[in-house]
Amino acid sequence: MEQNQILKRYGTDYKKMTKELLEAADLIGLISDHDCRIGIKPNLVAPADASWGATTHPEIVAGIIEYLQDHGCRNLVIAEGSWVGDRTEESFEVCGYWKLSEQYGVPLLDAQKDTHFTKDCDGLKLELCSCVKDIDFLINVPVLKGHCQTKITCALKNMKGLLPNTEKRHFHAMGLHRPIAHLAKGIRQDFIVVDHICGDLDFEDGGNPVVKNCIMVSRDPVLVDTYVCGLLHYGIEEVPYIQMAEQLGAGSTDLEHAKIGVLAEEGTYYLEGSAIWDEELPYADKVVAVQDLVQEVESCSACYGYLLPALDRLRKEGLLEQLGEKICIGQGYRGKHGKLGVGNCTSGFDFCVKGCPPTETEIYEALKRYIVLGTLTQEKRY
Ligand code: SF4
Repeated sequence: MEQNQILKRYGTDYKKMTKELLEAADLIGLISDHDCRIGIKPNLVAPADASWGATTHPEIVAGIIEYLQDHGCRNLVIAEGSWVGDRTEESFEVCGYWKLSEQYGVPLLDAQKDTHFTKDCDGLKLELCSCVKDIDFLINVPVLKGHCQTKITCALKNMKGLLPNTEKRHFHAMGLHRPIAHLAKGIRQDFIVVDHICGDLDFEDGGNPVVKNCIMVSRDPVLVDTYVCGLLHYGIEEVPYIQMAEQLGAGSTDLEHAKIGVLAEEGTYYLEGSAIWDEELPYADKVVAVQDLVQEVESCSACYGYLLPALDRLRKEGLLEQLGEKICIGQGYRGKHGKLGVGNCTSGFDFCVKGCPPTETEIYEALKRYIVLGTLTQEKRY
């Protein structure tokens, strides 16, 4: 497979589709030493079934493992760390990865329990999980999704799962885009298999899956994310980390010279011009509908990612119009005062939904009490 290629396959037999794509891309031809340690990095952001639209379908990872084992690769590991606030162990269980591990004899590595080391990632020092050092060939298996802070999340941002939790929080304090771009130089992705089966186009933790039944493969994470931007109706300038990563030499945003192919029963055909947008995806509007109510400063993904769906639930119940003030969230509010905040970082506020992070349901219930009763106190009934 060439560096400027993206290959897509539509269908519902996800394991078979994955194996066909890997054969067509000649993945094995890219792995020079079949005894090397091959890492598979899914997206298991939180313990939620893949049908929810947030996590990588285990059938895709099963397809990758079967393909590699059929070609004599035995030194495999599945490495992942869920977001701050959820335990990877639980995600492995709920998402079906313990079962995969037993079935194929591939160990699971919980990055949240790993040690870490400092690496200079092209001018920015980042803390990375130690497992990164032992992986010789990395296969990234992100979910194509929307994200309430960065608009999209796919190949580049998925590498955040191989950071210790302290560094994940620190990323938000650094503004997310710059460190995500530098991370692309700190952890090299050798191959990407995109789960575009039913990702949620608004929220990283799912809940509103949009079924497309597509899997894509590529060698260039920047090219993949550029294509995803277009599919989700964003201009590339709206997701700054993509061009930053290109400037650092992590890949190319040149869609014009990319070869985007569709693997079909009768063979592969290539898409040209505007035909590269061969699928219709709805506009993500749930975040826009509620984000004006929030003042966010350096919030962690989980905290913000739980707040917005909670607000969306309140919006659907017609309660948000009664909310008289903005909701503050994020590490930037530590030690500060204000009226209404979400997360322990706003514990100095008059009203604070406690937790680090509080869950979507905790936020929803607390804000509902606040709107209806003017208090966060739990004893009262509404
Ligand atoms: S309370 Fe603060 S540190 Fe904890 S998850 Fe929320 S933003 Fe991050």
